[in-house]
Amino acid sequence: MAKTKSSFFCQNCGHESTKWLGKCPSCNQWNTFVEEVTQTENKNDWKTETTRSKINKPKNLSEVQSGNEWRLVSPNQELNRVLGGGIVPGSLILIGGEPGIGKSTLMLQLGLQVQQVKILYVTGEESEQQVKMRAQRIEQNRIEQDDFYILTETNTKNIFLAIEQLQPQLVIVDSIQTLYSPMLDSAAGSIAQVRQCAGEMMKFAKETDTPVFLVGHITKDGTSKRTTTKWNNHWCNHRR
Ligand SMILES: [Zn+2]
Repeated sequence: MAKTKSSFFCQNCGHESTKWLGKCPSCNQWNTFVEEVTQTENKNDWKTETTRSKINKPKNLSEVQSGNEWRLVSPNQELNRVLGGGIVPGSLILIGGEPGIGKSTLMLQLGLQVQQVKILYVTGEESEQQVKMRAQRIEQNRIEQDDFYILTETNTKNIFLAIEQLQPQLVIVDSIQTLYSPMLDSAAGSIAQVRQCAGEMMKFAKETDTPVFLVGHITKDGTSKRTTTKWNNHWCNHRR
């Protein structure tokens, strides 16, 4: 049996404590602490067995190639400007905002407009058909990007298996709240899961130089959106 470690997290602000607390010392809310498993003894990360053998060695600074020059420039000038001139390889970019403001549409647009780049669009929010329909609305049936792949999956282990097979050059995840890492027992959308999944994505981005966009729902009060209310909002968005 794998030994597990758990912590208590304030569901309001994310404050971590080793024991249960009635009142959060950080945000002063009452009864917000929930126990979540933070680490199982089985310390797997995003890598599967085939890539695990590649271990980084220390490098002299003069041997390191500065990756500053190359950026993936998207056709969306405003997005390039926000990203400091383009998408940096190996970067993890959080697209945060309230539900319904167009985060998914922006990401789908980016995926469809970037040319000659193999893109994996991971969706835990919508079905393949829904994404296709939205893509057609955006591009009015002129979908030119033929290196665009959709994966409906929320388990990070399965996502990384798909990534290893497809070898995409850009990954878009919609949304971080739907992701589920089998490393943890807690539910998708919980603070521990969001932290774990974002960490796995970050590690993947850094180690493969693949840029990753993460869509994240943030509510007005700044907290990350929980899965329990997600589906209602989502359904409304589609009916517009
Ligand atoms: Zn708190």
